[in-house]
Amino acid sequence: MQELIMIKYGELTTKKANRKIFINTLTQNVKTILENENVEITKDQVRMFIKCDNAKQIAFKLQKVFGILSIVIAYKVNNTIKDVLDKSLEIMDKNQKTFKVVTKRSDKNYPIHSMDYSKQLGGLILKNSKFKVDVHNPDIILTVEIRTEGTFIYTDELKGAGGYPVGVAGKGLLMLSGGIDSPVAGYLTLKRGVDVECLYFESPPHTSLEAKNKVIKLASIINEYSGKIKVHVVPFTLIQEAIFKNCPDTYMITIMRRMMYRIAELYAGKIGAKILINGESIGQVASQTLDSMVCINNVTNMPVIRPVACFDKLEIIDIAKKIGTYDTSILPYEDCCTIFVPKHPVIKPTLEKCIKYENNFDYHTLINQAVNNIETITNFKEDEFEELL
Ligand code: ATP
Ligand code: MG
Repeated sequence: MQELIMIKYGELTTKKANRKIFINTLTQNVKTILENENVEITKDQVRMFIKCDNAKQIAFKLQKVFGILSIVIAYKVNNTIKDVLDKSLEIMDKNQKTFKVVTKRSDKNYPIHSMDYSKQLGGLILKNSKFKVDVHNPDIILTVEIRTEGTFIYTDELKGAGGYPVGVAGKGLLMLSGGIDSPVAGYLTLKRGVDVECLYFESPPHTSLEAKNKVIKLASIINEYSGKIKVHVVPFTLIQEAIFKNCPDTYMITIMRRMMYRIAELYAGKIGAKILINGESIGQVASQTLDSMVCINNVTNMPVIRPVACFDKLEIIDIAKKIGTYDTSILPYEDCCTIFVPKHPVIKPTLEKCIKYENNFDYHTLINQAVNNIETITNFKEDEFEELL
């Protein structure tokens, strides 16, 4: 393996007590993402190193791993200034004109101070090439990290995904629909280090196989930021039909969402998830007014995280486009919510009425049945469901 990638850790550097857990989780996540690549991974308290043969491709994959500040393709040489100079001249892009040297000395025993080293190396590069120095706005920033085991040189620094390594914050259950909002909510929660699993409510034959495959496809896209996402599919038909039969039109959505929360809470308990996550956004639709949220949230004591609660739709769409879920989200397949949509859903529901209407049928049995018949989809590979859409 000829090439070398060096990873700089993200926000985790500020969490001193948890540093070890953070770095170990990040290493594990990098291993998962690079599972099918021929790589050799080593790490210490400040950097992770990946030996490989296809650095550009690997760096691209690493840009989706949370907990990484930046990624560089680095060159390791001996700590002699001659070796550093030769390698620097070799890697500096000859199409560029100006440069600046930045030296970082983690080997504090190294006899030359960082500023002096930059000056010395800069002088030698000036003497031995056509490059000119520009300390304010250089075309090339040549970074030299002097460590005990060698000197690492690089010119381009790719921005990492930031955030915390997935898993350090524990597990959460995302209510994932085929819409635009919930995949974005999932992405934002993964970014905070939450190990996300997904729950999808389907109502065949009222919802199609395409609708389900669309959700799985969305999960596979956000799985590029995780590597361990699962989709749990809840059979929701009987519950939706019972609501349709036993509750007034205006309350159908409110009650349906209360049933979803109840099922989500029960299932979260089974898989050890500590929070529920969804794509609700204040005021977006009737079921997301504050009064509706009060009624819907009332069925659970679990924390419900709504990462896009305060975003405008356009802001959510921007993120959806950036993470690659948008084009799939706008495919036209019906979701179970859109089929049973009443003409005038209540926007100021009351808890008393919700409870009254729910008591028109035995929802406890239906909910338990649904939870016991959840189908779990794992290890899906991206594109596998493409042809089914
Ligand atoms: P859109 O992007 O079109 O708003 P949405 O998925 O956000 O789609 P909403 O009706 O706004 O649809 O639903 C609010 C939230 O409820 C969703 O973001 C999602 O978290 C959850 N939800 C809705 N329908 C389902 C479903 N069938 N399965 C799982 N979660 C669902
Ligand atoms: Mg929505």
